[in-house]
Amino acid sequence: MTQPDPTPDGRQALLAFLTTHDGDAGCGPTREVLDLYAEEILAGLDPAVRFPGVAIHLRDCHPCADDLAGLLALA
Ligand SMILES: [Zn+2]
Repeated sequence: MTQPDPTPDGRQALLAFLTTHDGDAGCGPTREVLDLYAEEILAGLDPAVRFPGVAIHLRDCHPCADDLAGLLALA
């Protein structure tokens, strides 16, 4: 299973960024609930239970994950 990847890294990253995965909430919905998501983390809860699509999205979307990190840093 070692195939050379003909795609340059930049393009690969862009494709990964643009590709939505099953259940991925997407940037818009994620940002709408990001403060609630952060509150659940701060309360010691697992926000993935309430916002599974957001949890999936945050794994792949660095801008949104950065925003979440910013919210948590401010708390
Ligand atoms: Zn996003």
